[in-house]
Amino acid sequence: MKVHIEKIESYDFDKIYQFLETLQLEEILKDKKKILLKPNLLGAFLPEKAVTTNPIVVDAVITHLKNIGKDIILGDSPGGSTSVKLVWERTGMKQLAEKHNIPLVNFKTGGIIKKKTDTIEFPITKYIWEVDAVINLCKYKTHSLMSYTGAVKNLYGLIPGLKKSDYHKEHPDHTQFAKVISGLYSLVKDRIAINIMDGIVGMEGEGPSAGDPRNFGVMFASKSASALDFVASSMMGFQPDKLEYILPSLESDNLEISEIEIPDKWQNFKFHKVKIKKIGLYIKILAYSPKILKDVFKKHFTYYPDFNDKCRKCNICVESCPMQVMTLNKGDAHPSIDYDKCIKCMCCHEMCPYQAIYVHKSFLAKFIIK
Ligand code: SF4
Ligand code: SF4
Repeated sequence: MKVHIEKIESYDFDKIYQFLETLQLEEILKDKKKILLKPNLLGAFLPEKAVTTNPIVVDAVITHLKNIGKDIILGDSPGGSTSVKLVWERTGMKQLAEKHNIPLVNFKTGGIIKKKTDTIEFPITKYIWEVDAVINLCKYKTHSLMSYTGAVKNLYGLIPGLKKSDYHKEHPDHTQFAKVISGLYSLVKDRIAINIMDGIVGMEGEGPSAGDPRNFGVMFASKSASALDFVASSMMGFQPDKLEYILPSLESDNLEISEIEIPDKWQNFKFHKVKIKKIGLYIKILAYSPKILKDVFKKHFTYYPDFNDKCRKCNICVESCPMQVMTLNKGDAHPSIDYDKCIKCMCCHEMCPYQAIYVHKSFLAKFIIK
């Protein structure tokens, strides 16, 4: 399975377009007319925040698809209670839809189809079965809960609206949540014709929304989201076999690691000192530690969402909390959290449009997580 990697230092439309031409989309989409583009539109963030797929990348993909005669729709279901209208506007998608005269679809409306793995049932947007193929336009970022987010995780947005938060409630443990992500992937992967990832400016640190933009200067593409993530996460400095949803997703694709092909010059490439968070990995380490070590860890290894002074009292985090343990009282500077009931899913941290929620870490957590 090929993973294409191209050095593209800035959002230069022509260079991105040339990269798309090398992917032979005409061949990949040869019997397919109606194409759904699924960018990462996590929330109402401006492109320079590097949370969402950059509109210049989406513009180049739309232009190329139109040039090869495809009909396009563009859609997503942003997380939490964020206004979809605001998301379209801030991320630049509204302007693109107007420029190209294509429909924007909100997965919260338009209906769902229920699909089930052995253990988990998912309501998935109907749109992916109403088109001939889906192109996954993901973003290259770290993730405070799952460590890394790229192609496979972007497909979590196919679950409409707040239902996404419910899975955190039902599967609070990191390992269980990884099964949610890989389980969903097994159900939708055959609808995805190709995955194209914007890593020109990605995110490091407290991703997926409150981290620091980083100019990785690279774009990726592959027919397999799991192969793409295996390669891209490794280039960030992760051990991809430790990211719990990657190996099961490769299994869904019937792929061995040895079958992943990348250009020679990228074989052993790693970005220098990426700020990666390993909260999920340490939860796993804890799970396998002897009890005495576990007790010491539990006492000193703590992390939880906390607030800085950027809060604008928009209430989005309160409405997005799957455990409903956040309250915002009149006169308070920011919401408060009932930490006894908080499951540390970090949905609030992820959904805050103003980066007002950070991950507070004890000294030991800071030392280990970096
Ligand atoms: S307060 Fe935040 S981290 Fe805690 S359960 Fe609610 S959304 Fe999750
Ligand atoms: S922390 Fe404040 S600004 Fe951020 S989502 Fe919550 S209420 Fe809105």
